[in-house]
Amino acid sequence: MVVLRMVILGRQGSGKGTQSLRLAEAYGCVHLSTGDILRAAVGEGTDLGQQAEAVMNSGGLVGDDIMIPLVQERIGKDDIATSGVLLDGFPRTADQANGLESMLGARGQMLTVAINLDVPVAEVTLRMMARGREDDTEDAIARRLDLYEAETAPLLDWFAERGLLATVDGLGEESDVFGRLQAVIDQRLA
Ligand code: AMP
Repeated sequence: MVVLRMVILGRQGSGKGTQSLRLAEAYGCVHLSTGDILRAAVGEGTDLGQQAEAVMNSGGLVGDDIMIPLVQERIGKDDIATSGVLLDGFPRTADQANGLESMLGARGQMLTVAINLDVPVAEVTLRMMARGREDDTEDAIARRLDLYEAETAPLLDWFAERGLLATVDGLGEESDVFGRLQAVIDQRLA
């Protein structure tokens, strides 16, 4: 059986969380959302949550020293080895991308594809204002978008250099976007 190991990149508000859930179900892989893990930790008031909360509320990035070991620990679990993984929200920095490459490499694994779910800044800003999450203040939204351009957008080149990048238009109906994502993934799995 082919095991899907993929990364989905996109500005916050691009719909990557929603699409990731659908994709993980369709391809039977584990949905690993670092944002979800951090939000759960904040909710439970764990050490991790206490370290992450202020950074998250300000729209900043939680440190690589926290994020890389967190993902490393999770990605080594049996369910991911058997079923594959869809990484949603990781990597977000060059160090995280390099960390991911070594984690997979150490297991003799490779990514299938890295998808850039492309939605323009103006549209994601409107969507984020509308979803009204607690960490979606205007300042935090602006900061997250700036950080995306500065830290995460350069990863698109990083993945392209490795022949892993596919860009999918994230505008339009959710089901149409889902169809485009599936087409790209199925082509890579074939
Ligand atoms: P998300 O749900 O992916 O938008 O993540 C929500 C927040 O969690 C982000 O704004 C960051 O503060 C933090 N976060 C999630 N994933 C990462 C990551 N890979 N590196 C650093 N911070 C992260």
